[in-house]
Amino acid sequence: SMASPALLMRVVASAYSVAEKAATIVRNVMSAGDLGIVEKAGPSDLQTKADRLVQMSICASLARKFPKVTIIGEEELPTGDVTEDLIEDGHCEEILKKPCPAQYTGIREEELVIWVDPLDGTKEYTEGLLDHVTVLIGIAYGGKAIAGVINQPYYNYEAGANAVLGRTIWGVLGMGAFGFQLTEAPAGKHIVITTRSHSNALVNECISALNPDHVIRVGGAGNKIIQLIEGKASAYVFASPGCKKWDTCAPEAILHAVGGKITDIRGNSFQYNKEVKHMNSAGVLATLRNYDYYASRIPNTVKESLVP
Ligand code: AMP
Ligand code: MG
Ligand code: MG
Repeated sequence: SMASPALLMRVVASAYSVAEKAATIVRNVMSAGDLGIVEKAGPSDLQTKADRLVQMSICASLARKFPKVTIIGEEELPTGDVTEDLIEDGHCEEILKKPCPAQYTGIREEELVIWVDPLDGTKEYTEGLLDHVTVLIGIAYGGKAIAGVINQPYYNYEAGANAVLGRTIWGVLGMGAFGFQLTEAPAGKHIVITTRSHSNALVNECISALNPDHVIRVGGAGNKIIQLIEGKASAYVFASPGCKKWDTCAPEAILHAVGGKITDIRGNSFQYNKEVKHMNSAGVLATLRNYDYYASRIPNTVKESLVP
């Protein structure tokens, strides 16, 4: 008889379906038209009804199936019962059929931490920049991001009314990443991608020091990592606090699964154990290729301004 699939593959297969349900909620809240915007730390730190409903959906759905896994979501929400219509109990059969990398077959529920960003790029969502939005479910083991699911609810939204809207990208270290076409950025060009709505003097000073051929300013950590793996940009550079562990966990797993690298601006790797500080205080530097080229050109003055 077939051995039952490893826990990690069951979690990823469920997270895939949970992320698809999340994308439906993101689209439904927008089409219903009442975003229910709440300011958190300030006008550039927003929460909408979609952030709230999606976090409830993802966390309750995964907790029901995997009760001993630690799940950490971005939004602070009142505790209480989640209505049944928000629960997703399906999974992606194709993921379940794939063999788990040998080093992860023995993982137990208690050893996993799931970092959830229910809606990454909220500011852009409220401004109608819908393709910047992603849903991020990152899976960590031993403090490392080992698997991730990124759903882009509005992928293809400019392709017309008959186009299939949305896609789900997933990956596991040692296995690779799926749901997109890995593409190299233009050779010999330095295209830097960075924040659109959280710029400051240090962010801009750091980008100038890299002397890029082109700078792309868009919302979302998930969106920026997708642009790296699809060859639209060569480096994601953000020399500022602001990004949190739920922003980087799923993107990190997927980027690392295809041979890329993400660290803070000083070159330190991120940790994802459940006790870790949420803020990535020393910023973000990520590339698919040529990490060392960009890392070696970050000014020491910038590095010294950012304390991990
Ligand atoms: P961005 O590239 O500006 O979209 O930022 C990537 C992620 O980090 C998003 O989830 C942002 O909300 C978050 N983030 C970055 N900077 C800040 C900030 N100054 N305040 C609040 N959230 C931030
Ligand atoms: Mg986010
Ligand atoms: Mg968010």
